[in-house]
Amino acid sequence: MRAPEVGGVRLPDGRGQVLRLAQGASLSDFADKIDVNPSQLVQALFNLGEMVTATQSVTPETLQLLGEEMGYKVQVVSPEDEDRELLESFDLSFGEDEGGEDDLERRPAVVTVMGHVDHGKTRLLDSIRSAKVGEAEAGGITQHIGAYQVTAEVDGVDRTITFIDTPGHEAFTAMRARGAKSTDIAIIVVAADDGVMPQTVEAINHAQAAEVPIVVAVNKIDKESAQPDKIRGQMTEYGLVPEEYGGDTMFVDISAKQGLNIDSLLEAVVLTADAALDLRANPDMDAQGVAIEAHLDRGRGPVATVLIQRGTLRVGDSIVAGDAYGRVRRMVDEYGEDVAEAAPSRPVQVIGLTSVCGAGDTLMVVEEDRTARQIADRRNARKRNALAARSRRRISLEDLDSHLKETSQLNLIIKGDNSGTVEALEEALMGIEIDDEVQLRVIDRGVGAVTETNVNLAAASDAVIIGFNVRAEGKATEMAGREGVDIRYYSIIYQAIDEIESALKGMLKPIYEEKRLGQAEIRQIFRSSKVGNIAGCMVLDGIVRRNAKARLIRDGKVVQDEMTVTSLRREKDDVTEVREGFECGLTVSYSDIKIDDIIETYELVEKPRD
Ligand code: GDP
Repeated sequence: MRAPEVGGVRLPDGRGQVLRLAQGASLSDFADKIDVNPSQLVQALFNLGEMVTATQSVTPETLQLLGEEMGYKVQVVSPEDEDRELLESFDLSFGEDEGGEDDLERRPAVVTVMGHVDHGKTRLLDSIRSAKVGEAEAGGITQHIGAYQVTAEVDGVDRTITFIDTPGHEAFTAMRARGAKSTDIAIIVVAADDGVMPQTVEAINHAQAAEVPIVVAVNKIDKESAQPDKIRGQMTEYGLVPEEYGGDTMFVDISAKQGLNIDSLLEAVVLTADAALDLRANPDMDAQGVAIEAHLDRGRGPVATVLIQRGTLRVGDSIVAGDAYGRVRRMVDEYGEDVAEAAPSRPVQVIGLTSVCGAGDTLMVVEEDRTARQIADRRNARKRNALAARSRRRISLEDLDSHLKETSQLNLIIKGDNSGTVEALEEALMGIEIDDEVQLRVIDRGVGAVTETNVNLAAASDAVIIGFNVRAEGKATEMAGREGVDIRYYSIIYQAIDEIESALKGMLKPIYEEKRLGQAEIRQIFRSSKVGNIAGCMVLDGIVRRNAKARLIRDGKVVQDEMTVTSLRREKDDVTEVREGFECGLTVSYSDIKIDDIIETYELVEKPRD
């Protein structure tokens, strides 16, 4: 049989075989599957008139076209498809109510508050929380679990509404990007003394793209300079025509500060939901929902706030949430009370997962613990593969050279310990003289730790993050790893400038790179006349190793760099390393340590050149 020639390159014959490739696959991934050298595919495609690099992700059409030329039937599988197939292999599915019409019951609307910064989103969420509870529940909402429920009287009937307690469209979009439709209605807050601003428009776009009905809260009407009518006029330009002008969007003038018209706003939410949506779910099935927040709690272990979407979640259920699994050991509501079961639209904190799931991950109850674990394991494996593939693609300072050839622009996000240094660094970086064809752009800057939002933005715009005397917080490091975002830490300005400058000039060839080992938190300090201060630590993640390099982090800021772990003990024994979840006693080459400080250990490893 003659091997097919594609664009003059001899390639294997697919013979009608079906080839499954993940969405966003590169020619490298393709080549792996059919066991050829990636450069052959690059060449073939080049000859067909398309120029791509081996590791760049290509469109499904290109994958299909190339496959066809060789006689393969290429199926491009999206991550959602993959997950659906995974669940199907266990005879499960996510997202559908079981049974028929008769099994559906009304459920509360789930609301997200969005709008421009400083227009009063947080204040509004606070004032709804304090106005509408406390009536029935003595003590009011005590816990910020990421969502809460309130009741509003509409036409003489008490109606429940669920509010997602993290304002802003980042959270909304992040969840939507992961296929989790968590929100039924969006309240868009516009300050009456300011008007429609860029993030207002963004919020409108996000809500409209998700086909989520909008209620407009015209806020700060207590201010003298408020012009609520002007807002109505402006919003009309974005397709939101007030009811009083013959449109179908409800506008409510409120003051979040004075608690004015909050009832009317809640009523508008209920009425809009009733008019535009059919909010029903089957409460009598294994629960399914979405995690809106998750973290590791010191005493309770992994804690996830879950919004139930259908079915009823009960203590004792076996669950899988993203790549975490476990059994519901306890459920706690926004009042800090234990609850035994949670029906649709109910947010609850779930305790009992074996690891921390991601915000936006779906949660479902399965029959057996074993099934939950198997699904979680498979997702985990897939995540690792995707990460390996992805980290090849995003830019880091090392592969800047090839990146600049494509775009001639390096995007940076600068985070620092105070605004002075951030400004100084930005100014100095902008002052680097580079040839005209290359551009340096600082797309975001700020004071404080590197956050998940920073990483999100960096991933979306191929930016490198610079952390000056600050570290990543929460799950930002993990997320950067997953997204292949390069975070660079510096504590000396000229070092940062040097590196960026050499990267821009294509000279950067680092031989060593820092490999993070793990983090330990100081829980106790013992003073010893012989060895100085001994830190009683709990290893939070990874490992702590004797003689490893370390830095001391206090409140997200690096207070001491370049320390060494000089001794390490478990109980009474000297040990070389201690793993995650274990306690240890250690000393470092720096004495001013405090309880709650974080000791981050790392080593320098030779970076393999690719
Ligand atoms: P966010 O960035 O949208 O979450 O806005 P915030 O809720 O933090 O509010 C920004 C500022 O506006 C704060 O100083 C609030 O106290 C103030 N603010 C919020 N709502 C009102 C209001 O109804 N009237 C007045 N006068 N000020 C308000």
